[in-house]
Amino acid sequence: MDKNKLLSEQVQRNSGVDVSKCMRCGKCTATCPNYDLMEYHPHQFVNMVENDKLDVLMKSSSLYLCLNCFACVERCPRGVEPGKLVEAIRLEAVRQKENNHLKPDQIVEKLTEGMPQQAITTAFRKYTK
Ligand code: SF4
Ligand code: SF4
Repeated sequence: MDKNKLLSEQVQRNSGVDVSKCMRCGKCTATCPNYDLMEYHPHQFVNMVENDKLDVLMKSSSLYLCLNCFACVERCPRGVEPGKLVEAIRLEAVRQKENNHLKPDQIVEKLTEGMPQQAITTAFRKYTK
C-alpha cells in the first residue's frame, strides 16, 4: 500500500478521527485562533488526510503552530475533531524525525516570567515523545 495512504489510516486510527464525516463547512477554520499564522488550516488538514497528502502535512510548520485549544473540535457540527488529527500528525512527524522538535531541557530556556503552568504542560505534550 502507498506510504501516504498507510499514514493517513494510521493518524485516523491514532486520533479516532473519521475524515469522511467532514462536510467542508469551514467552521473549524473560522474559529481557529492561529488561522493567520498557519499555512494549512484545520479543514485543510481534514481534507488532505482524506486525500492521502500526509507527506505535505508532515513537513508543514502548521503542525507546531496549532495551540491545542480544541476550538475547532468544539465548533465542528459533524464531530470530526480536526484538532485531534493535527495532534496525531504532529506526533507522527516527531516520531519519524527520530528527534523531538523541542527537547525538554530547551523548554527551561524559553520560560518567561508569568508564563502559565498550562503552557509548559502543553509544550511537553506537543514537543516531546
Ligand atoms: S486546536 Fe489547533 S487547529 Fe484547532 S482551533 Fe485550536 S489552534 Fe486551531
Ligand atoms: S467544522 Fe467539521 S465538518 Fe466543517 S470543515 Fe471543519 S471538520 Fe469539516
